[in-house]
Amino acid sequence: MKKRTQLVHGGTKRSQWGELSEAIFLTQGFAYDSAEQAEGRFIDCAPDEYIYARYGNPTVRMFEERIALLEGAEDGFATASGMAAVNGALVSMLKAGDHVVSARALFGSCLYILETILPRFGVEVTFVDGADLEQWRAAVRPDTKAVFFESMSNPTLELVDIEGVAKIAHAQGALVLVDNVFSTPVYSDAIAQGADVVIYSATKHIDGQGRVLGGVILGTKDFIRGVVEPYMKHTGGSMSPFTAWVLLKGIETIDLRVRAQTDSAMAVARALEGKPGVANVIYPGLESHPQYALMLRQLGKGGTMLSIDLAGGKAAAFRFLNALEVILISNNLGDAKSIATHPATTTHQRLAPELRASLGITEGLIRLSLGIEDPEDLVEDVLQALAAV
Ligand SMILES: *Cc1c(COP(=O)(O)O)cnc(C)c1O
Repeated sequence: MKKRTQLVHGGTKRSQWGELSEAIFLTQGFAYDSAEQAEGRFIDCAPDEYIYARYGNPTVRMFEERIALLEGAEDGFATASGMAAVNGALVSMLKAGDHVVSARALFGSCLYILETILPRFGVEVTFVDGADLEQWRAAVRPDTKAVFFESMSNPTLELVDIEGVAKIAHAQGALVLVDNVFSTPVYSDAIAQGADVVIYSATKHIDGQGRVLGGVILGTKDFIRGVVEPYMKHTGGSMSPFTAWVLLKGIETIDLRVRAQTDSAMAVARALEGKPGVANVIYPGLESHPQYALMLRQLGKGGTMLSIDLAGGKAAAFRFLNALEVILISNNLGDAKSIATHPATTTHQRLAPELRASLGITEGLIRLSLGIEDPEDLVEDVLQALAAV
């Protein structure tokens, strides 16, 4: 079946009642028909048998199967948040003495895991400029166990060439772990391009309606069930059945939402490009983006996020934000509601000013996550906010 059909039907398991919509199994445990059956489950639990919700639950399993179909992965493990997924994917496969190479431009909490937590347990981490294949080539060594990067960075929307990095990593036997949030599962072809493990914060486009925190780790059956599951089920980062149910409904509409959001991002990017007071519009879907060709090859579309750099710095950025009437000031992304963020004073405030500058996070930078409102209202909103600046 094609992707859009799988998004509606994939992974569905019906109870004896034949319910049309996915059932939500709000149960932590499961009763057995006999002592022998209980013993059998603890010896060898089949994929459709359950023991305890931290190990698995039918609603969570439906979500895992549907998102794995969407990504083209063999299997997936659902987690309580995107960060439980990033942490689980890395920590489940690493041990003291291992070496990891990571892109430097990371979501703050991802940076904390790679920069602070992993070294505390004896894992050596080398940071590189993710867009520069030469730096990856120089950093990956025979003892490198994994490379990690966000395929499109936050908030400067720089792409990492998955195929290029995978070639370098695989030549040394390292696994390629991709945090794919900004690329979205709708445009991603990461596994075909060489990623071994794909990680999503489902909080973003997969829910897409700002309701729950969730995450997922996708990969081969061997990696998910052999490496990730034992770690996750014993350390407590599993997804709640309620969250899985919300996310199953989110996946049903993700393709429609993300494509509409992308159209709006393109309309807003075009409306702002070249306007007085706008020093730069960063959108991978614009021909002016330095990685436009890579975007076409890797994703085909520019995605739902764009950033603008206002020439007037922080004062201009704050005037712009405070003048917005439709677009909300917040720090989520991928939502049905359009959202504007000032990374320098919020999401990236914790970074040292020199690092912020080296990542291109200026005082005038505003990140926009386009929603599913009428694109004409969104264009009008940013233009009137710019006029207020
Ligand atoms: C939001 C986000 C995360 C973390 O996800 P949570 O669901 O908030 O835990 C990780 N990586 C990226 C790129 C994100 O945008």
